[in-house]
Amino acid sequence: MAFALPDLPYSRDSLAPHISEDTLNFHYGKHHNAYVTNLNNLIEGSDLEKASLEDIIMQSAGDASKAGLFNNAAQVWNHTFYWHSMAPNGGGQPTGKIAELINRDFGSYEDFASEFKAAGATQFGSGWAWLVIKDGKLEIRKTPNAETPITEAGVTALLTMDVWEHAYYLDYQNARPNYMQVFLDQLINWDFANQNLAAAA
Ligand code: MN
Repeated sequence: MAFALPDLPYSRDSLAPHISEDTLNFHYGKHHNAYVTNLNNLIEGSDLEKASLEDIIMQSAGDASKAGLFNNAAQVWNHTFYWHSMAPNGGGQPTGKIAELINRDFGSYEDFASEFKAAGATQFGSGWAWLVIKDGKLEIRKTPNAETPITEAGVTALLTMDVWEHAYYLDYQNARPNYMQVFLDQLINWDFANQNLAAAA
């Protein structure tokens, strides 16, 4: 059974004007879809053909001979996680349990936001910024290219922000900081973070 491109959790025009339908047509319809197609081509007839997406990621991580497989599998996972990390009418102050933990582990929402933006801004080239929980404590991570924190023991991903240029170039051109600010203010899905937090407990 080949992998399928997962449905978006909202319509392609529903993040506009913050992220345009045009961006989702390319980013979801072309880039994410291509990772799924490449992954299916790479696993066809291999010993990983029946493995779960997470198992493929774990079994190819750090193995240079499986770099293509890892890159495509991890990008399929990362993008699905990214779509859920945003919501129409999202953004702003966190709510629920994640709000408590942000205050406890970063001091305030403002301190979290500046650290999260710094992770995205200092990821040179393509990659991702993440909010994760490890050993009961929130941490911010950045990863290059397709790298994903789920390969690290004890880490549960809570939210991610794609900082590849394809995530923002049509709407913000080179201005990654403007995209990151809008992600925080208008799009971030705290309900998804709370769901992931509850599942990690
Ligand atoms: Mn992307």
